[in-house]
Amino acid sequence: MSERLQAPRGTFDVLPDQAAARDAVAHQAQELLEAAGYRRIETPAFEPTELFARGVGEATDIVSKEMYSFDDGGGRSLTLRPEGTAPVCRAYAQHGMHKEPQPVKLWYWSPFFRRERAQAGRYRQFWQVGAEALGSEDPASDAELIVLLHTLLEQIGARELRLRLSSLGSPTTRAEYRGELQAHLRAHADRLAQDVRERIEVNPLRAFDSDHPGTREVMADAPRLVDRLGDQDAEHFAQVRRLLDVAGVAYEVDGTLVRGLDYYTRTVFEFTSDALGAQSGVGGGGRYDGLVEALGGPATPGVGFAAGVERMLLAASEQPAAAAPIELFVALDEGAVRERAFEVLLEARRAGLRAEMELAGRSLKGQLKQADRLGARLVAILGADGAQLRDMASSEQEPVEARTLAAAALRRLREGA
Ligand code: AMP
Repeated sequence: MSERLQAPRGTFDVLPDQAAARDAVAHQAQELLEAAGYRRIETPAFEPTELFARGVGEATDIVSKEMYSFDDGGGRSLTLRPEGTAPVCRAYAQHGMHKEPQPVKLWYWSPFFRRERAQAGRYRQFWQVGAEALGSEDPASDAELIVLLHTLLEQIGARELRLRLSSLGSPTTRAEYRGELQAHLRAHADRLAQDVRERIEVNPLRAFDSDHPGTREVMADAPRLVDRLGDQDAEHFAQVRRLLDVAGVAYEVDGTLVRGLDYYTRTVFEFTSDALGAQSGVGGGGRYDGLVEALGGPATPGVGFAAGVERMLLAASEQPAAAAPIELFVALDEGAVRERAFEVLLEARRAGLRAEMELAGRSLKGQLKQADRLGARLVAILGADGAQLRDMASSEQEPVEARTLAAAALRRLREGA
């Protein structure tokens, strides 16, 4: 016997039972975001590696160790997308969307790939629903996106949500702050985790994300970027907070929130669920005013969010509704003509019924059991001399002419409804 093959480590199959819940979330996201003027975009699953190196940042965990990169056979490096914002900004610049009325509001529902240590809630292929508003500096676009993500999470019943909010200011403030933070880290280098110490020069802000006890102590006294904002950035942040107050969305200002991507400026935010274990991040995002320009496009402000679909479902108290049961099962008794049964099936579907026919050669008793498992309300039983329509709830059966079976079934279902 051949060895039974398995899906790669850290990936999962979306089985039919789970697909219904995921579809329900996708449907809610689409309704919510499109009603707010966001239009769907889908970019390729792989991009030039340089897009992420430039867009997300060479020193980030994602780019330095989590990307699936490969040679395209012609000496060019491609990468399975680890995130969605850089590709959307690439598409915005490539298609001249800056010439359209601004802001351009886009949303996506797509798979992403990161070579992470697999565990509950952390996968190597996962899905995100995301939204981006490009071409507006207005704090109302930051607030709108946060409120939309909050609404979506509430709608799906995500439990024990918390919203952390901060501002990373402008690149200049950040560069100055970086020096200040590096000085603090160097002064306490002996208490830091080795990986944090090694990254003092390249990515000092990541020290805030460490769960190493010594590092956490050092970081508790570290200077905070949110306390060093310039006047305009501070005012922008204050306005975002005022708009969230107007919307009635609660948040905690948290100066330790830095997020793992280099492109953020000003607002950053993250929703976590205390109902999840170690991987508590459900979704987050922020403003990235320099990103489109860094990718060769015109200077364009932007803000967006991305939320993990699997994490959203893990955080939800009840899984969204499963698929609707079928309405009519077409059964074949002894002597039934297969072609006739097939015709009844097709007629029923044309009439708009959810219908299935026996395909496994079961006895009539077995077929009725199967119809029951499928939740069928009615069963059309075709025999050698005629047909019957059976009501599964009452077990009543009445003779019906095979030609009119679909119409009779439709009538019955309407009466019963
Ligand atoms: P990030 O772009 O890292 O901020 O991720 C945004 C959201 O995507 C997170 O809050 C998670 O919900 C989800 N996410 C990120 N990485 C993974 C992963 N490896 N597996 C599952 N979900 C993830």
